[in-house]
Amino acid sequence: MTALDNTWKMVIGLEVHVQLNTKTKMFTTSDWGYGESPNTQICPVTLGYPGALPTINQLAVKKGILIGLSLNCKINQITKFARKHYFYPDLPKGYQISQFEDPLCEHGYVNIENGKKINIVRAHLEEDAGKTIHTIEGDALIDYNRAGAPLLEIVTGPDMESSSDAIAYLNYLKETILTLNASDCDMEKGNLRVDLNISVMKEDDKKLGIRREVKNINSFRNVEKAINYEFDFQRNILNAGGRINQETLLWDDKQMVTHSIRTKEDAHDYRYFPEPDLPPLKISDNLIDEIKKSIPKLPNEIREELLSYKLNSEQIDFLISNRNILKYFELMLSDNLKNCIKYYNWVTIEVVKYLKETSSSIDSFPIAPINLRELVDIEVEGKIDHKQAKEIFSSMIKTRVTAKQAFKDMGYDKEENHDDMESFIKGVLDQFPSEYSRLLSGEEKLVNFFMGNIMKQAKGKYKPANITAYLKKIIEN
Ligand code: ADP
Ligand code: MG
Repeated sequence: MTALDNTWKMVIGLEVHVQLNTKTKMFTTSDWGYGESPNTQICPVTLGYPGALPTINQLAVKKGILIGLSLNCKINQITKFARKHYFYPDLPKGYQISQFEDPLCEHGYVNIENGKKINIVRAHLEEDAGKTIHTIEGDALIDYNRAGAPLLEIVTGPDMESSSDAIAYLNYLKETILTLNASDCDMEKGNLRVDLNISVMKEDDKKLGIRREVKNINSFRNVEKAINYEFDFQRNILNAGGRINQETLLWDDKQMVTHSIRTKEDAHDYRYFPEPDLPPLKISDNLIDEIKKSIPKLPNEIREELLSYKLNSEQIDFLISNRNILKYFELMLSDNLKNCIKYYNWVTIEVVKYLKETSSSIDSFPIAPINLRELVDIEVEGKIDHKQAKEIFSSMIKTRVTAKQAFKDMGYDKEENHDDMESFIKGVLDQFPSEYSRLLSGEEKLVNFFMGNIMKQAKGKYKPANITAYLKKIIEN
């Protein structure tokens, strides 16, 4: 093997297939879903019986438009379906209904986390193939349940230059589609599959290199591994004076290599032609407007907002990938940004702990956001310490009363007897004569030392704010 020449750079374009989460298939009313008994979700259209006619799934079209608009695409208001021919046992018709000219969405872009702009060349609707299962006995079993499931294929320009670009793009795409509830995006179930196109070139080359395409990668981790493998593989061949052939490959995770499955076919090999059983689909301005209005806040916007609340990127990532917790946190926050980090900590530590212990979801969490917020505010005001706040929290979960009520019920609102508190504090000060005299001479950090001791001995009898105020008074006198 020759030493790697570092002047090569990689060029990556991704094609992502997303299964849209509709109940029925793309071109028939037959249901589809993961994990059903094999060949129970089939019908004449699925199996390509002669004379069976396709119909278009409206919801799939709407979800496609929703994703397209969110990726800043132009929606083609007259969109066409085409037959893409190839032979495979799990494709019973001998062709796939896809889109070729005038796909549903075109000319979009997204800005990924590192600020790079990735162009979305197109996003088109098509149907999934069935699944071939190879047994150890050497048989091939075919399950047609997945055949006809609705797919949106989203194609980028060759705009990524590293595995971290590719992963950032994929994360962005997945977060966006999940936010839109357009796909479940569960990669283990095959809801989201990635085709990786990768080539190498020299910095000042005018033309892109010849690409190799790794099909159907089922995890982001494997996308990263396949990129690293291919980058080394292609550089080595070129450095040794060889040539890259355009090839279609599969990633072998056991051996950590790519395997060639065929030399690359071009569009003309598929003999695309207009689907004669489906006329061009017209999409009205009204429908586009309606869908536009339904787009929720997207991850980039949420990220920016959370950043302005002074949360760090780790905290933001946590909230983005735990949407229900984010929703609760936002309700809790309303417009009080002052205690934002405190609210974040309470939700992600105490509330999450409770949810884990009870294996429950935040949707059924017994304390309303506004109520938890009230509790945290009481703590921040210093009327109670954190330990007491946690006690109130437990009691609120049990009794479902408001924070203010629980605060009263547990006796924290009682006006403290100041003489009593002062003599109690004096008693503690006398236990530490040398620290006491240093405190008197103005050593402020001893306030914390005495706070700790007083709180421990008083067992919550006095409000922390009052104790601090009294200690400060001693220093100032
Ligand atoms: P096809 O539809 O035949 O697979 P496309 O030209 O539409 O081919 O490209 C598919 C994907 O490959 C796109 O994401 C595109 O950005 C990417 N791509 C095209 N040329 C290159 C290249 N030289 N290097 C890396 N990626 C490329
Ligand atoms: Mg391709």
